[in-house]
This record gives sequence, C-alpha cells and structure tokens, in this order.
Amino acid sequence: MTLEKFVGIEVMSSQQSLVLVVNSGSSSVKFKLLPADGGPALFSGVAESLCTSGPARLILRKGLAKSIEDLAGSSHTDALQAIFSHIQRNGWLADVAAVGHRVVHGGERFTRSVLITPEVIRDIEAVSVLAPLHNAANLLGIRACAELFPAISQIAVFDTAFHQTMLPHAYMYAIPKYLYEEHGIRRYGFHGTSFRYVASRAVDLLALDPEDHGVVIAHLGNGASACAVVNGKCRDTSMGLTPLEGLVMGTRAGDVDVGAAARIGRVTGLDLAGVEGLLNRGSGLLGLSGISSDCRALETAAQADHVCAGLALDVFVHRLARYIGALAASLHRFDAVIFTGGIGENSTRVRGMTLEHLRAFGLALNPAANQRLVGGANGRIDSGSRTQAWVIATDEEGLIADDAIQLAGLRQPEACAA
Ligand code: ADP
Repeated sequence: MTLEKFVGIEVMSSQQSLVLVVNSGSSSVKFKLLPADGGPALFSGVAESLCTSGPARLILRKGLAKSIEDLAGSSHTDALQAIFSHIQRNGWLADVAAVGHRVVHGGERFTRSVLITPEVIRDIEAVSVLAPLHNAANLLGIRACAELFPAISQIAVFDTAFHQTMLPHAYMYAIPKYLYEEHGIRRYGFHGTSFRYVASRAVDLLALDPEDHGVVIAHLGNGASACAVVNGKCRDTSMGLTPLEGLVMGTRAGDVDVGAAARIGRVTGLDLAGVEGLLNRGSGLLGLSGISSDCRALETAAQADHVCAGLALDVFVHRLARYIGALAASLHRFDAVIFTGGIGENSTRVRGMTLEHLRAFGLALNPAANQRLVGGANGRIDSGSRTQAWVIATDEEGLIADDAIQLAGLRQPEACAA
C-alpha cells in the first residue's frame, strides 16, 4: 500500500480544510484541530483518566483559553464523542477533511503512513501482538472516529515506520534466528514521527546536502530515544522491540542486563510481568531519584543538593552521551547532534552536560546560545566545531496532519511519509 495509490482518491472541497490529529493512548486521548494550510491549532486538548477508576475529564485549549469538563463516560468513544460535540458546536464539523491517527507499532508491515481501510485495520490488529496495550488503544480511537466521522478520510501514522530503513545488522538481536522469523522479535524503534520531522527540518536549518549528510537526533521527553540518520533515512536507533530499550527515561530504565532483570525477579519475588512493570513504570529518573520522573523537578531538587536527583540526571546524561557516540558509528560523516523533545528543547543543563561528555568529537558548548534556545526555539549551541550541536523543536502533530493532508488528497505530495 503506497502513498501514490491513494493520492487523489478522496479530494474534499472545503473553504478552510481542517485536520483532526488524534493520539489515543491507554488512558488518554490527546488531540489537535489544525488548519490544512498551516498555522496554529484552532483547538486542542486531552481527555484523561479514561478506562480507570477515577473520573474522566476533558481539558480543552482554544487560543489562550483553557477549560476543564467532566466526561459523561470514561471510554475512548465517550471522549471522542465529547471532542466531536465541541467541533460541531464551534461550527467546524463541515470543514474537517481528514483525521490523522498516531499508531505506535506498525511492525514490518507499515513502512509509511497510510489511508485507513478495513484491510489496514486488520493489519494493525495483526501486528498488535508486538505492542498490545498501545495498538489496542490506537485502534479504539480509529474505530470511534470512523463512527463519528464516517465520511472523512482516516490516516494512520506509525511511530515505527521511519525506522524500517534499518538494515539487518542494526535491527537483529543476537538471539536464535527463528525468534525473528516466527515471532517478529527484532528491533523496531519508536518516536519515528519526531525523528522524521526533525531530520527534515535539519536539512533546511543546517543547509545540509540532502544526499550526503549524517546526524544523530536525541528525542528527549518522558520517553526518550536517539536515532542515527543518514541522508534522511534511519540507520540505527536506541529503542528496540518495545520502547523500553536504550536511554534512561522518566519511568523506564532503558538498557538493563537481562541477567539483572532475572536477579530482580528472584530477589523481589516478582514474576516476569512484574519485573517488566518495574522496569517500565518504576525505574528511570523516578526510580533513581526516588522523587520524580520529571526532569525539571529533578533539576530544581539537584540545585538544592538532593543527591539522588543529581545522580539520576548524571546517569541520564551519561547514557545519552554513550548512545550518541555509539550511533555515530552508523554514520559516514557526523554533521550534527540534535536535541529535541521537552527535555531536549528546554533543559540547558542536560544539553550542556551531554556536550561536555562528547568532547572527544570536538564538541564544546556555546553557553549563551544554550541559555537562549529554549521554549521551542531552533538554533545552534556549539561553539564552532566541525560536528555541530543544534536544538530543533519537534512537531509530531504537525507531521501527522501533513501526512493526513497528502494522503487525503488535499494537497499534492512532496517528500511525504518516508
Ligand atoms: P512527552 O514524551 O510526554 O511528550 P515532553 O516531550 O513534553 O514529554 O517532555 C517532558 C519532559 O520535558 C519532562 O521531563 C519535563 O520535565 C521536561 N521539561 C520541560 N520543560 C523543561 C525545562 N524548562 N527544563 C527541564 N526539563 C523540562
């Protein structure tokens, strides 16, 4: 299934075409309503505490205004119904021309974004064994939107798709090969939408030769991963079969010796699922610091001499620098290291400490630029090395909207949906 196959099938006519971007997680639905021709979101928000015992609520942002309302029910359909009602009440419904859905796992089946058809839904279900919780939640959002917006094109954008250009030497685990052949156990990588957006912005901002460049991008949010990009294509990434491998994250441990995981099970009495839960939800910055998974909170605590907060940040940065060095081994030239995501775009401390670790690559910080480039600003933060260091703000929703616009035939394709 290719982009080309779908272009032109669904051409909507609207005064002002709008795209609804939906990110449906296990207990939340985040959304943004964006104009197809660019510009700020008309409204956005998040429905929280879905399918939990707590009361579900909808937080809405329209311009500078913010409102919170309780939801009538706590299912994903209830949440999307409430969002739909707001779209209707504001008179935007007739202008919604496409819905773009974030889908976490596309396995090897999806190498690019696609228009959703019954066959695509079946295929997403088929790869869901690789990420049962995430993909099931994504499918709930897709099904609810199909009911609410039956005449509107739905597009799936996969976190894993950008990484499908990795070669076997990067994506195979060194385990018996039948586990890959029979069960699909290999490295897939995530955050692909962010990497694809930032990689493309980097070509423009750094004036890179599209056919001859190499960069390492670090997407640092609550989840964190890094990616080696050669000539716009992923060559290696830090996440694996699941989003647990690699960097230290808010609550995820990142790399841990599997022997250590087995020992944790024995000393705590936890079964395999229990250990997996501990490594996913009780580890990382939270587990090390004992106080928070939030980088900003840890920086404040570390400044007040909270030893464990300082240690958590040190481990986070050391692992990040180690991965940047390792990923550079997949490049034929090292043009730049690029920081993005909530931490990458805002934490002057993490960026400064990371470059300090990367002196062997000739990188040195420009402290004034580092202080200045926060809050979504793009720019260079090294002090003139051959390998540059940049901050580039990501825009995952913008890219999902862009793919949706192109696949819905609202605009002619450019270099879409890698
Ligand atoms: P998500 O992965 O949920 O999308 P974000 O990309 O929004 O997360 O990143 C959230 C992380 O960014 C949190 O750890 C938060 O503390 C951190 N962060 C946001 N602003 C700052 C800041 N000014 N300084 C340090 N860390 C920040």
